[in-house]
Amino acid sequence: MKILSGMSLKEIEELVLSLNASKFRAKQIHNWIYLKSVSNIDEMTDLSKQFREDFKQVAQVTDTKIKVKQVSSDGTIKYLIEYPDGECVETVLMRFDNRANLTACVSSQIGCAVNCSFCATGKRGFIRNLSYKEIIEQVLTIQRDTGLKITNVVFMGQGEPLLNLDNVLKALDIFNNDFQIGARRITISTSGIIPQIKKLAEQELQSTLAISLHASNHAVRKEIMPIENKYPINDLINALKYYVEKTGRRITVEYILIKGLNCTLESAKELAHLLQGLKCNINLIPYNPVVKTGYQKPSNNEIMKFKYLLEHSGKKVTVRLERGSDIDAACGQLSGKAGGKANE
Ligand code: SAH
Ligand code: SF4
Repeated sequence: MKILSGMSLKEIEELVLSLNASKFRAKQIHNWIYLKSVSNIDEMTDLSKQFREDFKQVAQVTDTKIKVKQVSSDGTIKYLIEYPDGECVETVLMRFDNRANLTACVSSQIGCAVNCSFCATGKRGFIRNLSYKEIIEQVLTIQRDTGLKITNVVFMGQGEPLLNLDNVLKALDIFNNDFQIGARRITISTSGIIPQIKKLAEQELQSTLAISLHASNHAVRKEIMPIENKYPINDLINALKYYVEKTGRRITVEYILIKGLNCTLESAKELAHLLQGLKCNINLIPYNPVVKTGYQKPSNNEIMKFKYLLEHSGKKVTVRLERGSDIDAACGQLSGKAGGKANE
């Protein structure tokens, strides 16, 4: 049985031709999959009944299912998707009242090997990579279930996208060409895998690169992100400068605020200094509770002071709105457990 999700127009054409149907059918089917996002072939109403019957003998829309769906009081929806091998991963739909954007937060791996101290995904360890089809299937699941069309994609779910780069790049290409989501509406977030950042720079992508920096010096970063031992912060900043030089694109620097650890006034000054020559915006993420970390988020007052100090450096600084924390859908809370709580 052929699975239509993830197939290119050309692959669908070959399938249609093998059934002795006109090539034109492929474009219709392609639209039903990526733009109208139907769940089964019977819903493809501009295909003749006879053709649909023949088609159903050889193809189906998807082989994944929604295992759990949770809706947050703020409208965020978290899906736990089950793949045919029984492995599950989350994907999250985020919407903001004042914006028309519908953003899908997708996972690139099941679990993650990077093991940052503040993240629920890292605590689970690495299970396996997702194929590009499994990645795009997450967006299709949201579109099918809600009947809405996703406008933005962020690779901020489970996993380290740059440790599964080939599949992420292929998924990016499909989001671009098949879903018609502009490259500039796609963000890849990484913990800082330097060789892969350079590789990505050479692709001259128009997508946004977000870097999980989270510290203003080597000692603090090492304490919370083991990857700092392999790819130290100063080399990382140089790699990011190279990325900006190659692509012309502004980087997003993500910075978690953990009480008593990385958000003192000295940290703000040190961070401003570190980022001086880098074309970037800064996105502050107040820490979201995760089991057994012992960390806490700072007070609103501390957050605003930190922001104010950074803004003095001339950078644009935003504080990330917390989404879906009541259903453990916020940053760092995805652990792959059905209904399991990340903060209990
Ligand atoms: N692995 C990639 C992408 C997924 S995580 C990366 O680390 O960049 C998406 C963002 O959520 C990252 O910036 C990550 O550091 C952050 N995050 C992880 N755990 C968090 C937590 N408990 N609270 C707030 N942000 C968290
Ligand atoms: Fe992996 Fe990102 Fe979580 Fe770190 S923050 S463990 S890189 S998913």
